Order: sequence, then structure tokens, then C-alpha cells
Amino acid sequence: MLETVRVPDDIKKLGDFGFAGEDHVIPFEVGPLDARGRVIALGPVLDAILARHSYPEPVARLVAEACLIAVLLGSSLKFEGKFILQTRTDGPVDMLVADFSTPGSLRAYAQFDADRLDALVAAGETSAQTLLGSGMLALTIDQGAYTQRYQGIVELDGKTLQEAAHDYFRQSEQIPTEIRLEVAKLVRPGEGEKWRAGGLVVQFLPEAPERMRIGDLPGCDGAPEAEAEVDNAWREVQALASTIEPGEMIDPTIEPERLLYRLFHEHGVRVFPGVQVADRCSCSQDRIRGILEGFSAEEIAESIEEGKIAVSCEFCSTTYEFDPADFAEAN
Ligand SMILES: [Zn+2]
Repeated sequence: MLETVRVPDDIKKLGDFGFAGEDHVIPFEVGPLDARGRVIALGPVLDAILARHSYPEPVARLVAEACLIAVLLGSSLKFEGKFILQTRTDGPVDMLVADFSTPGSLRAYAQFDADRLDALVAAGETSAQTLLGSGMLALTIDQGAYTQRYQGIVELDGKTLQEAAHDYFRQSEQIPTEIRLEVAKLVRPGEGEKWRAGGLVVQFLPEAPERMRIGDLPGCDGAPEAEAEVDNAWREVQALASTIEPGEMIDPTIEPERLLYRLFHEHGVRVFPGVQVADRCSCSQDRIRGILEGFSAEEIAESIEEGKIAVSCEFCSTTYEFDPADFAEAN
């Protein structure tokens, strides 16, 4: 089979380089199957984000999944920009936000109703579907003031984030895509509890677009896709991805490169230099000041506590203080 992707000279075969380690996006391609993707194992970055908010465990898991999606999709941006995942739903976890800014900054937070959450935890009902409820998942690409903001929205009705992300690729991008997310809280000897989240996205990107047929959407009767229409190469990728074992992506002894090797080595998988992800927020005194400058005199008055205005960033919990007198004149 012809190799359709030109590979730069500095690309090494898997095994030629060491393991990139946690919090590092690893792009890869399986040339003979016309498949490309990215894989990551999030560790310390996730610990930092989750510890700052001390989210209850079921909420932390959803935040971790949102982070995985933001990193896997955001790291594909070819230009400077931002990828934002946001949910708005009627469940106890009514909002999740995770955003990835190029080259590698990640931040995230969740909004939830503690009473409703406690009741569900007590009842043992903590599936993602129950916690999120119904609503929507919006995926936004923002590449600055001079480019059009792109937003894809999919419904989140009784679906996991992984299923909703899958729907997004199918509906909005129309690229055959497999996405896998796995999150766990691990107890490592001597290190206490640590979060680990593994994510993999792989897409079918043949040179001939007519090969990218996506089977018909399942009908109301839940009939399966028209299998005959799916390209053989893509079917092979799907079959291999389906062999990912539960636990394989969150096992700290299985580096993402090893997983890629296990899945695709028979077809020849190459990995590319990736991106280190960092727990980094883009908030600043000036940005928050800009928001307050848009407030009416009444809103400013309502924001004053003990003679000052204190604003905390929802993402990173940094608190910024302002003198109310700075805003009085503007109104
Ligand atoms: Zn912040």
C-alpha cells in the first residue's frame, strides 16, 4: 500500500526514542492505514488542577475527562489559539469548562450543586450520565481577533463526554474518529493518591476523501452502521482500538508509546515530537480589570465587600483585589 504522508527526516520510529512521560501529547501516524492521532497520559498537571479545587471525586473524574478532550483536540491546532470545551446541562454538575491554549497551557473548572451531588453519591448513582444530565457540549476553536471563531455543539442527553465528543467528530467534522478516555485515582507507593488520565484520539485521513465515508447514523431502531461502506483500513483501526483494555490507558507502567506499539506496530506506527502540557492560567489583574470596567455603577457597588472588590479566577482560584474608586468614574 502506498504511503501517502510525507515524513520529515527527523521523525524516528517508535523505540528510537525514550518515553515522553506524563503530561506530554504524543502525535502519531499509522501510514499504511491512513490514520493519525494523538495520545496522552495526564498526571501531575491533573493533580495540580484537581487539588486546587478539592472537587468531590465524581466531579474530579468529569473534569479530568474534559481536560483529556481539550488537550487531545486543542493540541491539533496548527496556529496560535485556544480550544474550549464547555458543557451546560441540568444535572448536578451543570457546567464543565476545560481550555487548552497553544502551545501547551491547560486549565479547567466545574460548577456543581453540592446537595444534589451528595444525594446521588449516597444513592450510589454517580455515572457520568446521571451527574451531567441533559444539555449540550460545545467545542470552540478561537484563533484570535482576526479569525472566525468556530463552534460545534452536540447534545449531551444521557451520554458520556467520550460519546458526545465522538458525535462531534461525526456531525461537525465528518472525519471518522475513535476517541478513548480513561480516568483513575491511583495509590502509588510513597506518593499517596494520584490522578491519572489516559486519552487517545485516532482519525482516518486518507488522501482520497471518498474513502472517508462514515456509515449511516444508526436509525431510530438502533440499527448498526452500514458496515459494507466503511473503508477496510479504517475498519482495521477501529478493530485495533477496540482491543484497548479497561485500565490499559491509566496504568502508570504502560507508557502511551507502549500502547501505540501494541496497537499498531504490525502496520508501522511513527511518533512525532509532541507538546508538554502545563497547568497554566491566562488570568491577570489587567484582564479582570477589563471585565470590571464593563460593569455598571450598580454592579460595581454590589461587588464591594469591606471597602474593596475581590475577584477570584474560577479556573486557578487566584484572587485579585481592586479599589472601587478606580471604577466609579467610568460610570
Ligand atoms: Zn486564573
